Amino acid sequence: MSVSSYSENGFFERYGGRYVAEVLSRPLEELDLAFREAMSDRAFLDELDVIRRDYIGRETPLYFAPAATKLLGGAQIYIKLEGLANTGAHKINNAMGQCLLARRMGKRRIIAETGAGQHGLATAAACAKLGLECTIYMGEVDVRRQQPNVAAMELYGAKVHPVTSGSRTLKDAVNEAMRDWAANPDTTHYVLGSALGPSPFPDIVREFQSVIGREVKRQAEERGIKIGAMVACVGGGSNSIGFFEPFINSKEPRLIGVEAGGTGPGIGENASRMTGGAGREGILQGYKSRFLLDEDGQALPTRSISAGLDYCGIGPQLAALGESGRVEFTSVLDREALDAVSFFARNEGILFALESAHAGAAAMRVAGEIPGDQAVIINMSGRGDKDVFITSPVFRPSEWTRFLRAEIERLESASDIHEAKSMAGESL
Ligand SMILES: *Cc1c(COP(=O)(O)O)cnc(C)c1O
Repeated sequence: MSVSSYSENGFFERYGGRYVAEVLSRPLEELDLAFREAMSDRAFLDELDVIRRDYIGRETPLYFAPAATKLLGGAQIYIKLEGLANTGAHKINNAMGQCLLARRMGKRRIIAETGAGQHGLATAAACAKLGLECTIYMGEVDVRRQQPNVAAMELYGAKVHPVTSGSRTLKDAVNEAMRDWAANPDTTHYVLGSALGPSPFPDIVREFQSVIGREVKRQAEERGIKIGAMVACVGGGSNSIGFFEPFINSKEPRLIGVEAGGTGPGIGENASRMTGGAGREGILQGYKSRFLLDEDGQALPTRSISAGLDYCGIGPQLAALGESGRVEFTSVLDREALDAVSFFARNEGILFALESAHAGAAAMRVAGEIPGDQAVIINMSGRGDKDVFITSPVFRPSEWTRFLRAEIERLESASDIHEAKSMAGESL
């Protein structure tokens, strides 16, 4: 059988599995069982549907991009606007699904890892909405450089726990969250943020994200759109696998996954696990997949202008689908992603997140290969508002520097701060 949607005993061909310490076996088995029960419980699915409609804002639009279609030539360009989901990206689909599942299992405490803060933010929002206690593990380095997201998580009432072990970034945050879960499995659920990690997480995350692909399929059928190719960016792989899901078992359309090409092909310059030369099979953080590893099997440093794609591993199902050829992989450089941000902002009035702009850039390349009666659908996994601290220093460096200096001066004039504080105090 070809790679099917669900894993077989936790495996997608030779990738996946559950390589964890003994203490985590029982919580993972319980989670697997609870998940399967929930997915056949009408009341659970109905509640999730209502939350998707009224809180997340689904369905998200499938937007026809007329100017891009004309300028690029070839295929009709469509954009699935996941960035219009509440909290600004697809991550809420998974965070909300897992938090509802945790509540159904009687767990009132949620923990999650986060790198740039997008998954932490979505999880914090879901917990606030459902009245669950929330702790987010985040590397100390990331806490320092991602303050806007830390601030948002705290506004949602989450506790952000800086992780000081190892390189003090994402993979250390994952280890710390695993450790917490192993110590508190009866009260706590660990909301993993992408379609990876030990089984059953890849199945759970794909299932909650597949709402994207199911909507696209219905929207395309209703409007008589013939899909030639679907393009999504691939960090861990959650937006792409959810977007591709209803199409995995058919031969068409082309499914294209886009990795971060960073600044170039050298070691440490990108996060290309499927397309670069450094990706190899390994077992890390509980699952077998393709990783960027050195000779000793240690994770190599990665680099991308988009924090969400800057990770050394890829979900096991996508690794298998890449090897079978069902999903084609390509990579896009930082520079090309920035150009795609400008292109879609200027011509369509749509501001892509830097992650999603990798998919946009790859679609710009393939549009000409596809006949004009067919569509290329880009998954815009998130919107670009969050990237203003990254794009502004590139697009308008001196104005941005002047703005930041002026902000610091303003904040250092104590009267302003006291005024703002007393205003916040009065309204509470
Ligand atoms: C986190 C993130 C990604 C990458 O994660 P996947 O699991 O590969 O989807 C892509 N786009 C946005 C907007 C993100 O926040």
